[in-house]
Amino acid sequence: MPIDPTLPYDDENIFAKILRGEIPSTKVYEDEWAYAFEDINPQAEVHTLVIPKGRYVSWDDFSAKAEAEEIAGFVRAVGKVARDKGLVEPGYRMMANVGAHGGQEVPHLHVHIFGGEPLGPMIA
Ligand code: 5GP
Repeated sequence: MPIDPTLPYDDENIFAKILRGEIPSTKVYEDEWAYAFEDINPQAEVHTLVIPKGRYVSWDDFSAKAEAEEIAGFVRAVGKVARDKGLVEPGYRMMANVGAHGGQEVPHLHVHIFGGEPLGPMIA
């Protein structure tokens, strides 16, 4: 069920619980700004999620409200995860769904990283 990205942040969302360690996840990377883990229902050979440690509902929320340092830290973490997974050559895709039309289901910003195989023009 797609979420409404204009709603306030819900501390009980599933990724908040993963961040707090209340729900298990397969950790890929963690630093001051970000936490990365494997998607539970992978849509490609590699399907990793990167989330900010801050309380942001969506990319819209994050891009409007996060401090510059936090944005830089998060963006660098996304790049590092892809690099560390060896995806840069031959390439990968990153994506953040926002709201109903974007098909966003979890109300904590997450960037999907897809790779490990040719992805075609688009992953729905
Ligand atoms: P969205 O549609 O919100 O952009 O993507 C949500 C993603 O989170 C989906 O790809 C889904 O498989 C993944 N996901 C949902 N619940 C869990 C969970 O409990 N653990 C993990 N690792 N991934 C989840």
